[in-house]
Amino acid sequence: MQLVFATNNHNKIKEVQSMLPKGISILSLEDIGCFEDIPETQPTIEGNAIQKANYVTSKYGYDCFADDTGLEVGSLDGAPGVYSARYAGPQRDANDNMNKLLEALQNKSNRSAQFKTVVALHLKGALTLFTGICPGEITTEKQGEKGFGYDPIFKAQGYDQTFAEITLEEKNTIGHRGKAVKQLVDFLKNR
Ligand code: IMP
Repeated sequence: MQLVFATNNHNKIKEVQSMLPKGISILSLEDIGCFEDIPETQPTIEGNAIQKANYVTSKYGYDCFADDTGLEVGSLDGAPGVYSARYAGPQRDANDNMNKLLEALQNKSNRSAQFKTVVALHLKGALTLFTGICPGEITTEKQGEKGFGYDPIFKAQGYDQTFAEITLEEKNTIGHRGKAVKQLVDFLKNR
């Protein structure tokens, strides 16, 4: 079986391919000749994951899955949420985004937050969603050099170190994306 993963992020593709049973191979957007920016214009993380998966299946005819992730902060009513990538502006800069979030939380005592990933799978005409959540809190300053995005200011529940200080293996085990992908893999294995 061939499935398109609606991304050109080779790290994500490698990670998911390594978790899948033999017999399921993943194609990237490049592999199917999709070089345009896929619209992500929905107001929710679920909506964007579905929009991306629908786009590939309807335009290119492949079964497909797509992921979308956001960081939801309790005392900011769930912001930046679906707008996490461009929280501080269209330049999509991770440092600008972290600085804006640290500033927004300056006078807040409640710093609880969660990462949420939704994976939307389009398979043989049926749509299935898988959600992975990682609860934690926003630190008061950046710590660590690993990872990407908001990793230096996010500590998972029960951890003293940020996502930018723990190993990738640890992050994949406890993290939002890993949890959603694990559900996708189990679903594909069991069908
Ligand atoms: P995407 O949907 O995977 O492109 O993620 C949207 C945005 O959320 C990214 O641009 C990052 O700012 C942030 N993000 C997603 N996953 C992570 C993560 O694992 N750690 C830190 N930030 C993340």
